[in-house]
Amino acid sequence: MTSVPCHYYDGRTSARREAGLTITPDGILIVAIDGIESRHLYQMTEVRIPNRIANTPRHLLLPDGALCEVRDNDGLDAMRDRAEGQPPSRARRFERLLHRLDSTWRGAAAALAVTAAILYSFTEWGAPAVATGVVAITPPEAEAVIGDNLLAMLPLFGVLDSSELQSSRQDELRAVAEAMGRETGIEDLDLQFFSAPGLGPNAFALPGNTVVLTDELVALAEHDEEILAVLAHEVGHVAGRHVMRGLAQTSSMLIIWTAFTGDASVAALSILGPDQLLAQRYSRTFERQADQFAIEYLLRNDIPPTRLGDILQRLEEAHADSGVPNWLASHPGTEERRRDARDAADGIRDGS
Ligand SMILES: [Zn+2]
Repeated sequence: MTSVPCHYYDGRTSARREAGLTITPDGILIVAIDGIESRHLYQMTEVRIPNRIANTPRHLLLPDGALCEVRDNDGLDAMRDRAEGQPPSRARRFERLLHRLDSTWRGAAAALAVTAAILYSFTEWGAPAVATGVVAITPPEAEAVIGDNLLAMLPLFGVLDSSELQSSRQDELRAVAEAMGRETGIEDLDLQFFSAPGLGPNAFALPGNTVVLTDELVALAEHDEEILAVLAHEVGHVAGRHVMRGLAQTSSMLIIWTAFTGDASVAALSILGPDQLLAQRYSRTFERQADQFAIEYLLRNDIPPTRLGDILQRLEEAHADSGVPNWLASHPGTEERRRDARDAADGIRDGS
């Protein structure tokens, strides 16, 4: 029986010894070291043979901690095929396909294209589908706990301070928010106020039914209906459970990117860029849904939808020179959204 040459390392010393490998038809791997004077026998099922990557040497891990370095990949594979008999197992066929792809630049390019296509498809359709599933099985109580924890953490980062808004003013806006929640099927809408000098005028929704408004946003509004418009937009995020969806999408992306790149830190950097996390970027779809929700609410309550456009414009001006992540950074496409709000208002004037 022919053997395949290899370098043998016993796993205890760095000494390298010349050896030969043979696989018997009954699945025994024989390592003959320095000729035939020393032979080691192993069950093939206990030997770990890594997948072949082009023509780089493979290191066979033996159950006693020893290692064989094999350069003759073709010889090793032919011997395995003979020992395993025909037809080759599914795993072996797959391994061969991978090797063929690895061996040519066309194959490598095709594999890269397939990888890119899978990642793109997952980003585009897979992650949202996963998010829908995750949101469906996450009980509201669990979501509320996540939201409460986030809310407790934000002041620790120095992002939020206690609100300096008069309590009567807070109560007034809370009453409006509660009414909005009741009208839109969110019974326990929780409106929280914070002062955020570093962040400026801002509003965001948290998992659970919590919406945060900054004192600066309340001060920026020239009309209470503008605050209502922002509030309605955020309640739109609550109603669509967008924050949980966003978290589920990002997490599933992280898992799939890590699986493909083999490196969680690279994957994390590409998906969770620091400013992305800070700004809580929602997808454009979520933004459109939240705007639509707000516009419908405003229309139902005889409030001109232009209020949303007005406060958007003022927010844009307020944040124009500050480099901090702001409401607009997490809410892109201001111009387009102002136009939508204007069109909705025109629609009422035209009687449509
Ligand atoms: Zn939004």
